[in-house]
Amino acid sequence: MSHFLEEDKFMIKLYICPECQWLRVVSRRAKVECFKCGRPQMEPVKLTYSRYMRMNPKQREDYIKSWIYIYERTKKQKNLKH
Ligand SMILES: [Zn+2]
Repeated sequence: MSHFLEEDKFMIKLYICPECQWLRVVSRRAKVECFKCGRPQMEPVKLTYSRYMRMNPKQREDYIKSWIYIYERTKKQKNLKH
């Protein structure tokens, strides 16, 4: 089965917007802007497209929530160091 090879070939990646929590599917792009709130650069998500497609809406929602939680916590920790 070439499913994973195809995913790799097309370089499909998921990006999330920390501002409005919008998830976007992108292929072969380094600059990923958010069309919802205008943020110039979205954050890459460590989730493969095929795994995302197998998730139900509740799982996707939970994933985004936990991603935002970790992102905010990391951001706070970085701010404390300065
Ligand atoms: Zn946004």
